[in-house]
Amino acid sequence: MKHRYDTIIIGSGVSGMTAGILLAREGEKVLVLEQHTVPGGLMQTFQRRGAVFPTGVHRLGSLKKGQALWHYFNYLGVLDHLNLVEMDRNGFETFHFPGASFRIPAGHDCYGERLKGYFPGEAKAIDQYLSDMARVIGSLDFYHPGLPPAKTAGGNSTGSLDDYLKTLGVSARLKQVLTANNPFYGIPSNTCPVLTHFIVSDAYLNSAFRVDETTTPLAGAFSKSLAACEGEVHSNAKVNAVITDKGQARGVVLDNNKRLFSNRVIFTGHPAGLLELCDPKLFRPAFQKRLAGCENTRGFFGVAMTWKRRSCPVIDNDAFVYDSWDSNLAYHTPPPEDHRPGTVFLSALPCTETSGTVSVTALAGISPGEHQRMKALRNSGEPGRYQAEKQKLARAVMTLLSKQWPAMERDAEIIDTYTPGTFERYTLTPDGSAYGIQKKAGQFMQTMFHPATRVKNLFMAGQSISFNGIHGALVSSVTLCSHIVGKERLMEKIIKGESGQKRARKQGVINEKRDRTRK
Ligand SMILES: Cc1cc2nc3c(=O)[nH]c(=O)nc-3n(C[C@H](O)[C@H](O)[C@H](O)COP(=O)(O)OP(=O)(O)OC[C@H]3O[C@@H](n4cnc5c(N)ncnc54)[C@H](O)[C@@H]3O)c2cc1C
Repeated sequence: MKHRYDTIIIGSGVSGMTAGILLAREGEKVLVLEQHTVPGGLMQTFQRRGAVFPTGVHRLGSLKKGQALWHYFNYLGVLDHLNLVEMDRNGFETFHFPGASFRIPAGHDCYGERLKGYFPGEAKAIDQYLSDMARVIGSLDFYHPGLPPAKTAGGNSTGSLDDYLKTLGVSARLKQVLTANNPFYGIPSNTCPVLTHFIVSDAYLNSAFRVDETTTPLAGAFSKSLAACEGEVHSNAKVNAVITDKGQARGVVLDNNKRLFSNRVIFTGHPAGLLELCDPKLFRPAFQKRLAGCENTRGFFGVAMTWKRRSCPVIDNDAFVYDSWDSNLAYHTPPPEDHRPGTVFLSALPCTETSGTVSVTALAGISPGEHQRMKALRNSGEPGRYQAEKQKLARAVMTLLSKQWPAMERDAEIIDTYTPGTFERYTLTPDGSAYGIQKKAGQFMQTMFHPATRVKNLFMAGQSISFNGIHGALVSSVTLCSHIVGKERLMEKIIKGESGQKRARKQGVINEKRDRTRK
């Protein structure tokens, strides 16, 4: 039966929009449904007192021409709508531990040399680490569309990062530096699979970019690309149920009871949310048990601030500030009422002005217990107490940062704060988990999901399905669409890419053909 839509996609984050653009470019009639008031999921930004702040995208890796994410963004057409600003190649991030700071440069060779400068006695382990990273990355399917994967990664790439670093025999301090970016993807080094660590580290060592969200919002770039191939996005459109018939997906029911029909449904929220939309009997008990056994990554407490440019330390680099020499402290559950964060991640939006202020975001991990406490306070009907708690947390973040940069007491001003509860409301991710399901060493395959479900024509994509981050969530949709369209055909098109004009001309022909056959 011909429906108004070929595919309905639930969720307008990077994974939903990617699936929408890829299928619309194949001539499908696509509708993306978003429960929030604006599209974009974690790509959305917010504005307070004239300043713009990102929510879930602070930097993007591998976006230089010919690099992995560049190929995908180029094919999706989003590069045409983005001002990207490369971060300092000589130090795109800095790790501040008590008494010592480490500046991380882009480029694997430069990184190796810099590390050897900091740890002169550990050259052999550093070389081994970088060659293992290249080998593991080279074995990944879909990671880099331009490079065919090698047959095998060799070694135990799904084992724990700590165990792997032990086999290299790195010193305790080098280990802290190598794992200092772990809070950025929400997995402590003792449970983080080596593979996950290499994927994130490699992406930023290739190149790190910020999006000029003020002039060219990332969410807007995806919306424009989708619109260019006649895909539709509806906001304020919460899906309450997936319509199924004889084990097959037929469409969705919105929370205003409107029914929309399609030949295929793709769900891109947290997979636990999909179970709520369907009759649980449609899924195997083993699948449900596996899902229930998965642990989510923690959520973040965020402080949005403006910082005078003259003393802002993150103009063209990010920073991690550590309270101790333990890069896993961020995951320890602090005693109640002890608000001290173990680590704070600090980032900023690109600033083109030479004077004035910069939009800066500080993020600190929040334990599930702390999240529940804050949530209960918010719902307690005593807004004053909730606000006071948020201020306490913000003060603790600022105290740690001002130890590193005393001038911030004078030059930085808190504009707003947000909790995992904020993310939970805006993206429906359980407990406001930042990166969804945690990929765990030793249980790696249990935490990875196939895009096809047991229900015919009902699929899943998103950060919890394969890997997190913009690159990971986007690849989850490329993987899914390669099942639908054909892998070779899709990858060939992505690698070939097309200029905006040629793409528009071709799209016109595809859409005409589609409309003729749909009549
Ligand atoms: C604080 C923070 C900082 C981060 N920083 C970076 C970074 O700098 N670089 C990077 O690469 N990654 C970063 N990430 C991770 C990255 O943002 C995510 O991995 C990625 O955006 C996830 O995309 P997604 O499409 O899977 O999910 P989402 O963006 O969460 O999209 C899912 C969408 O589905 C919608 N939805 C769910 N259920 C329904 C329903 N029933 N009906 C309708 N809509 C529904 C939700 O509202 C949501 O909009 C960060 C994440 C966080 C939280």
